[in-house]
Amino acid sequence: MTDVAKRGGAPVPAGWTYAPAPESTDIVRLQERYGLYVGGEWLETKEHFTTVAPRDESPLAEVAQASAKDVKNAVAVARDASAAWAALPGSERAKYLFRIARILAERSREFAVLESLNGGKPIKESRDVDLPLAAAHFFYYAGWADKLEYAFPNRTPRPLGVAGQIIPWNFPLLMLAWKIAPALAAGNTVVLKPAETTPLTALLFCDVVRQAELPPGVVNIVTGDGRTGAALVDADVDKIAFTGSTEVGKAIQRRLAGTGKKLTLELGGKAANIVFDDCALDQAVEGIVNGIYFNQGHVCCAGSRLFVQESIYEPVVDKLKKRMATLRVGDPLDKNTDVGAINSRMQLEKIEELVAAGKDEGAEIYQPPCVLPERGYWFAPTVFTNVAQSYRIAQEEIFGPVLSVLPFRTPEEAVEKANNTPYGLSAGVWTEKGSRILWMAERLRAGVVWANTFNRFDPTSPFGGYKESGFGREGGLHGMEPYVELT
Ligand code: NDP
Repeated sequence: MTDVAKRGGAPVPAGWTYAPAPESTDIVRLQERYGLYVGGEWLETKEHFTTVAPRDESPLAEVAQASAKDVKNAVAVARDASAAWAALPGSERAKYLFRIARILAERSREFAVLESLNGGKPIKESRDVDLPLAAAHFFYYAGWADKLEYAFPNRTPRPLGVAGQIIPWNFPLLMLAWKIAPALAAGNTVVLKPAETTPLTALLFCDVVRQAELPPGVVNIVTGDGRTGAALVDADVDKIAFTGSTEVGKAIQRRLAGTGKKLTLELGGKAANIVFDDCALDQAVEGIVNGIYFNQGHVCCAGSRLFVQESIYEPVVDKLKKRMATLRVGDPLDKNTDVGAINSRMQLEKIEELVAAGKDEGAEIYQPPCVLPERGYWFAPTVFTNVAQSYRIAQEEIFGPVLSVLPFRTPEEAVEKANNTPYGLSAGVWTEKGSRILWMAERLRAGVVWANTFNRFDPTSPFGGYKESGFGREGGLHGMEPYVELT
């Protein structure tokens, strides 16, 4: 018997392969060229650039490169719109936010397909995570818009004015929702710059804004590269909200020092996922896989350092490797895909460089056998064992599907090692003891600590970091605070 084996008397195939289940892209109508969305209108620019699909490098559309002058104009338009928007009763602002939430939910398939096409993430993640969460953020902050006086008791919250918002490419629409929803609910207008490689869902969002009949100038989208982001930082905004690399975050902080502009930074991470020997092992392995291979590891809070208690080190690594072999890497638009395309050539090169450094420094690499497509940007799920704390792969943010495994013996040692990083965004703890979870959570220097789960998000729950992971919180009531002046 070659391709079937006997199990309990019934023949079953020895190996399963999934038939392709591609999601159709027909629902997405792309324009050949996009301008800037300012004051409810599309404005032309002198320069454009091409945005591509990372799965095959095919061009998708031409996108405007906003100059400093274009950005200045967008901010002026947002400024003009801000007094009327701030003066609306909160219940009116809520009405618009609820509309946006509902339209996002109604058009979620269209957005999910476009997100996967432009960003490379698996459709099942765009469909089941990014889109529901983006809509949920608008629903959630719509609920606060008319309750600000209860949100900040005995204080008077006032909007700041114009918020400049700069977002990265790993969760393009979700980061837009994290930024725009609280800003609008608090009565601010916004100018948002999406990342150069993933502008398309932000541009499609302009159509949602139009459909929701939001007053012109309340939401403005300016596309472009880092120069556009830098111009937004320098423009006449009252606040900058930035998510991205620690390097750019630091540059922005230096730039804003002494200007009086408010700033929140959500930067990189190198999260510790800590597995104790009393945990539910199979559940933990699922959490480890989700922690690092979700969204190809392009996640600021990814569990990229796995700390395993020494007594279960071997079985955890064995189980992990077996589980990795079942991950399906490939077309982001296939509904069976677990690990999609790397977002850009630049990011792929960064991952390759750090993986090469890991091998050179002496770590042992494992990648499950998988056939990577010829065109596009791909990287196989990777795990490193025999890693020392000082190796670059254990210290630097790789932002790819690459995990480093390190052993520990005692809870104290786990805390010591987990905190030995310049970052402090998130952590995970796997144990059956509630008291140990609390003991660890008190000592881990991380903004979020997940217990017996990983990468769980909810609009009601604040998210943000310590140290080089930034400051300020997004989500929950805490996420509203950076958008108001309290007197
Ligand atoms: P960046 O920090 O460069 O990008 C984030 C956003 O900032 C983008 O919109 C970017 O524009 C913009 N930007 C770039 N330069 C400036 C500037 N001088 N002033 C203002 N805005 C600017 O991240 P990268 O995309 O270059 O990724 C590099 C690394 O950063 C990744 O490998 C990863 O380690 C980390 N990263 C962390 C993220 C997180 O969520 N914490 C998210 C993304 C990346 P543009 O896209 O046009 O360059």
